[in-house]
Amino acid sequence: MKDVLIVGLGLAGISLCERLEAKGKTFDVYTDTSQKSSLVAGGLYNPVILKRFTMAWRADAQMDVAIPFYQQLQTKLGTQLDYKVKVLRRFTSIEEQNTWFEAADKPRLARFLNTHLHKNTNDGIDAPFGYGEVLETGRVATEKLVQLYAKYLEGISALHRTTFLYQDLQMLKDGVAYQGKKYEKVVFAEGFGLKSNPYFNYLPLNGTKGELLTVKIPGLRETSVIKSSVFIIPLEEDVYRIGATYKWKDKTNTPTDAAKEELLEKLEKFLKLPYTVEKHVAGIRPTVTDRRPLVGGHPIYEQLYVLNGFGSRGVLIAPEVSNQLVDAMYGTAQLHPEIDIQRFQNKYVAST
Ligand SMILES: Cc1cc2nc3c(=O)[nH]c(=O)nc-3n(C[C@H](O)[C@H](O)[C@H](O)COP(=O)(O)OP(=O)(O)OC[C@H]3O[C@@H](n4cnc5c(N)ncnc54)[C@H](O)[C@@H]3O)c2cc1C
Repeated sequence: MKDVLIVGLGLAGISLCERLEAKGKTFDVYTDTSQKSSLVAGGLYNPVILKRFTMAWRADAQMDVAIPFYQQLQTKLGTQLDYKVKVLRRFTSIEEQNTWFEAADKPRLARFLNTHLHKNTNDGIDAPFGYGEVLETGRVATEKLVQLYAKYLEGISALHRTTFLYQDLQMLKDGVAYQGKKYEKVVFAEGFGLKSNPYFNYLPLNGTKGELLTVKIPGLRETSVIKSSVFIIPLEEDVYRIGATYKWKDKTNTPTDAAKEELLEKLEKFLKLPYTVEKHVAGIRPTVTDRRPLVGGHPIYEQLYVLNGFGSRGVLIAPEVSNQLVDAMYGTAQLHPEIDIQRFQNKYVAST
C-alpha cells in the first residue's frame, strides 16, 4: 500500500510529489495529456501585475518558496529549468512612466521595481518611452520540467501514463482502493480536467483559454522579456515565444486562427523586423471565480483532496500552496482560509 494517489502531473502534481517525498511519503501518479496548461505555459515568474503596477496576490511570499524549489529541482533532475531573465515593461506614455515610479516608492513593491528608466537600445523594437524593469524575474521551462519529472517518476515506478477513471475509485474506511491497489489518500490535481471530477466539480473553476506562438525573428538579439500588449519571451537565438491570449468561452485545447491573428497584430505594433511563425499552442488556465487557488479536503470523504486553481500564475503559486496542502493533510498546519475550498461549502450543499 502506498500513501497517496495523485491525479495529474502538471505544476500542481509535481510540487505535490516533491512535498510528499520530503515528508517520506510514498505515492503513485496517474496522468494523461487531456490538459496542456503546464506544457504550453510561457513559464514566466514575475511578482508584479504589469497592467496596474501592483503586487500579485502574495507573490513576495510565494517567490521565497518557489525560487529555492526550482533550484532544488534543477539539481535533482540535472538540468537547467530556471532561466533568470529580465522583464521589461514597455511604457506607452509619460503618464505610465510616472505611475511606475510612484509604484516603486511603495514598500512591498520597492523590492521588485527598478527605479531607473530603462532606455530602449534595440532597433528592432519601437519603444520611444522606454521600459520599467522588474527585478527578481525569470522563466521556468515548464514543458521540460514536466517531461523530465515524468521520467524521474518512471524511474521510481511511480508513474501511470493513463487516464484516471473516477468510476473505479472505491471508498474504504481507512483510505481508497483503485484498480486493485490501496492508498490512504487521493489528491486531485487535474487542472481544468477537474470539470470531469464527480467529487469536486461543484467548485467554481472557470478556465481561461490561452494561446501562444513560437516565432523566429532573425537579428532581433533581444535577451530580456518585453511586455507590451503581448509578451516577447526569448527562448534561444532568434527564437521567441509570443503570448498570450485570454478567452473565456472556448474550453478546447485547439489553437485558433483568430488568436494567431490577434497575437501577430499586437506584436506588429512594436516589432520592426520580419518574422516567421514556427509553432502555435493552446491550453486552459485553471482560473477560479474569486482568483484564489482551490485547495483542501472533500466535505464528506476525508481521504480525498484537491490542489487546483492556479490560474495564470502556476509557476509561483504551486510550490508554496502545495506545502500548505501537505501540512494540512498531515495535521501540522491549517490551510490559509483564502485558498481553502471550505469557502465554497454552500456550493457543495447546493450540488447534493
Ligand atoms: C497560454 C498559457 C500561458 C501561461 N503562461 C504562464 C506563465 O508565463 N507563468 C505562469 O506562472 N503560469 C502560466 N500559465 C498558467 C499555468 O500554466 C498554470 O497555472 C499551471 O500550469 C496549472 O498547473 P496544473 O498542474 O494545475 O494543471 P495542468 O498543467 O493542466 O495539469 C493537470 C494534469 O492533469 C491531467 N489530468 C486531468 N484529468 C486527468 C485524468 N482524469 N486522469 C489523468 N490525468 C488527468 C492533465 O492532462 C494534465 O496533465 C499559462 C497558461 C497558459 C494556458
